[in-house]
Parts: sequence; C-alpha cells; structure tokens
Amino acid sequence: MFKNMLIAVDGSEHGWKAAQIAGDLARSMGADLWLVTAYDPLPGYLGEPNLQNALNVRLAEAEQVVQRAKQEIGEIPGALRTEILEGPAAEAILAVAESRQNDLIIMGTRGLGQLRGLLLGSQSQKVVSHATCPVLLVR
Ligand code: ATP
Ligand code: MG
Repeated sequence: MFKNMLIAVDGSEHGWKAAQIAGDLARSMGADLWLVTAYDPLPGYLGEPNLQNALNVRLAEAEQVVQRAKQEIGEIPGALRTEILEGPAAEAILAVAESRQNDLIIMGTRGLGQLRGLLLGSQSQKVVSHATCPVLLVR
C-alpha cells in the first residue's frame, strides 16, 4: 500500500521507535524509505569561519543521528536514502515529503523537547496539520 515513505528522526526515543516501525513497515510493504533529520538554523551573524565551523558541528551531529536511525530501521529490501536539512524540522519534513512525493510520513508524537506535559510536540503538530499524505505518529 505504501511504497515511498518518510521517517523523521531527531535523536529522541520516540524517533528511534518510529524508525523501528518504519523499518518493519518498509519490510512488510517492500517500500523505499527517505530518512530525514533537520538541524537547527544557524544565525547568519556568526560570520566566517565561525559559520562554517558551526555548520560542521551540526552536520556531524546529524550524521550520528542518521547512523543510529539506520540501525533502528535495519535492512530493508527497498532503497534507504537520507536528507539532512536545515530546520525548522516540520518545514524540512514537509518540503521533503512534497519533493520526494512520499505516501506516508512516520514520526514520533514527541521529541527532544523538555515540556513533558505535551501530548504532541510542535513539529508533529505542524506536520499533521499541513501534510498532504497520511501521517503515522509513534508514541
Ligand atoms: P517541541 O520541539 O515542540 O518542544 P518535542 O521535541 O517533544 O516538542 P517534536 O519536536 O514535535 O516534539 O518531535 C516530534 C517528532 O518530530 C520526533 O519524534 C521526530 O520524529 C520529529 N522531529 C522533531 N524534530 C526533528 C528534527 N530536527 N529532524 C527530524 N525530525 C524531527
Ligand atoms: Mg522538538
């Protein structure tokens, strides 16, 4: 049913659970997966070479999140491709979903945010509100 799914990870436990489910779904449906992680936007006032240094740190952190997510996903029969984009996360996720024409977005209900009372994080809320394909939220 789903052939070209998107999994969004931010380094949180919810994100890892979402990645495991994305792997299971990709295996059972023979679907391709786009793995998306967004890093915080960099303030332009930093100037060079600080801007490039800060970007390198962000990219290295994002690469670690990607590697762990790949472990959680496991082997899948279809293609597993990665997008590392500058945030905000919901905008990055929605942009990838549109450009890659994903048919399902999988993400956590919550992420790394500190407000424990929240049922739904702001990024999942935004994606659910604006996505044009189904969204699976994992708790
Ligand atoms: P908030 O960010 O509003 O304080 P939160 O961190 O608990 O709250 P969200 O950020 O909405 O909640 O996270 C929910 C899900 O969104 C995560 O489990 C993950 O799937 C996805 N997500 C959040 N941030 C990113 C990111 N930077 N890159 C990719 N996916 C993300
Ligand atoms: Mg968050």
